[in-house]
Amino acid sequence: MEKDTNNIRIQDDLYNYVNGEWINKAIIPDDLPAVGGFIDLSIDVEKTMLNEFSELSNSSNVDPLMKKAIILYKKIIDEKDRLRGLKPLLDGVSIFDKIHTKEDFLNSIYDLWFSAQPLPFNSFVSEDMMEATKYAFYISAPTLILPDTTVYSSPSAPILLNIYKQMATSILNSLKIENVEKLINDTISFDEKLSKIVKSSEEMADYIKCYNPYETNKVFELMDLNLTDYLTKRFGKVPEKIVIYDVKFLENFKTLLADNYEEYASWAKVKSILGDVQLVSEEYRELSSQYSNALKGTQKIVSLDKYAYRLANSFYDEIIGIYYGKKYFGEEAKNDVISIVKNLVQTYKERLKENNWLSKNTIEKAILKLDTMKIKIGYPDKISELFTKLDFNENDSLYEIVLNLTRIKNQYNSSLLFKPVDKSIWVMSGNTVNACYNPSSNDITFPAAILRKPFYSLSQSVEENYGGIGCVIGHEISHAFDNNGAQMDENGNINNWWTKEDYENFKEKTELMVEEFDGLPLLDSKVNGRLTVSENIADNGGITSSIQSLRRVKENPDFKLFFKNYARIWCAKQRDEYSKLLLTVDVHGPNYYRANMQVRNFKEFYEAFDVKETDKMYLDPSKRVIIW
Ligand SMILES: [Zn+2]
Repeated sequence: MEKDTNNIRIQDDLYNYVNGEWINKAIIPDDLPAVGGFIDLSIDVEKTMLNEFSELSNSSNVDPLMKKAIILYKKIIDEKDRLRGLKPLLDGVSIFDKIHTKEDFLNSIYDLWFSAQPLPFNSFVSEDMMEATKYAFYISAPTLILPDTTVYSSPSAPILLNIYKQMATSILNSLKIENVEKLINDTISFDEKLSKIVKSSEEMADYIKCYNPYETNKVFELMDLNLTDYLTKRFGKVPEKIVIYDVKFLENFKTLLADNYEEYASWAKVKSILGDVQLVSEEYRELSSQYSNALKGTQKIVSLDKYAYRLANSFYDEIIGIYYGKKYFGEEAKNDVISIVKNLVQTYKERLKENNWLSKNTIEKAILKLDTMKIKIGYPDKISELFTKLDFNENDSLYEIVLNLTRIKNQYNSSLLFKPVDKSIWVMSGNTVNACYNPSSNDITFPAAILRKPFYSLSQSVEENYGGIGCVIGHEISHAFDNNGAQMDENGNINNWWTKEDYENFKEKTELMVEEFDGLPLLDSKVNGRLTVSENIADNGGITSSIQSLRRVKENPDFKLFFKNYARIWCAKQRDEYSKLLLTVDVHGPNYYRANMQVRNFKEFYEAFDVKETDKMYLDPSKRVIIW
């Protein structure tokens, strides 16, 4: 039934006053979990680039790397050819039939890694959080079948696992795999055991606790696995230390695998087949999407051309992003956005100087962090080394091409271990509708694709731009000072630059933000105030700093425009399944509350719309929270 949006007063419900009518009319396409806001912009970028792909594929004057992306795209579209990948796929997973014991596993581990097959632990090279000019080798727990360990104890667990089992059974049977029942029972059994020893999304949101350096030999001892040969083959030599993401996982790894190498092999074989079979045909792509459809509530798979674009983009995103940025994001807009970022940074500095709950020393260090923060707007000037190495043989099947590209990415990532960190690398491509703060390099990134309406436009009012991108920029900057950022210095190293007292003061304020959001109702579930606290603090800092920055560039700004556009950027209509999934795993709160709860903390909101005690949006001044 449609909600009556005509009689909604802004003082009672800002979000639905601004977005309600649109939400009522919007229809979520069958292949999407949601529409509106960020997702609409993403769809639009995709449409633009699909047109570009079809035009460029007939042109002789195309950048060679972009050409590769287009060839890959066309390869995916050519369905007839894809089936050739089935044999190499099945040959690839036959490696698991030989794994029964620890020795078997140790004999195969390098080949497993080299052919991108699932291992019982994930591993990667990333900036050393203790010394961010260098890289470190990290080991973390593998991802579970259910979206989070907490879902295992929820009523939806048996329903979801059943869908997974049915999907796996029909795919494995149709591929004429032997012992299907045992494979699937082993898979579920191994995953359940795994779920008991891994961190939840809430625990993973604490970055600092994910940094646990160990001497390499100690890790071998705890895992009861000597990985010397494997690491020597992979890196040329064994790294002296390994950083462990999840200590509980490391400590229980030995018991998890003790007599279970066969169970692991089944789990990995099933995961590998279900993950890759989509590459072989549209029929298998459809079959293997049932579980993710159930998780997100989507009714069907995305069209073939979108799938092809997304897969090509998953390897060539930086190249596609640079193309998109150069063509669709102009120099004038870039300079304007840089001036907004500088204005926001200036505001943070001023606010820090006036701060009355941090010590002088801490304030100075915070300002140093702002002074050294690097700004990345639009798209990178140069292509990073990885993309110059990505290559494939056009005559291979799609499965083989994807495997080779994945291998190149994995090998490139490993090759970084003993090299210095290149801080000019972007962690988000220009065609991504998002923004981020990277604590390891103390930089903020705003890709070209988010620098559009309603977030930003040269044709929008200044108030709308500050209510949109201004709040997003302020949000990202505040991550430099949130519960994670407070423990990392201007060079991206873990180095607590706060006094104990400062941190206690901050924690007290943090608790107020947890309280404000914890337990807010959504569907038949609730918001987790702790899982979302960093992002809520960032939203809060974003609005605070954007309001003050707007005042600097415009006399008597119209805050009606500011807050309405702030509510507009969060506009979304989501499927219930998807909303529930996000409540469990997403560190960001639901869009409705990001708009409606957050604005209640600001006196400008009350003044702009004359919000009174009797209005639903009213929050007693004693309960309002402002942190930065
Ligand atoms: Zn954030």
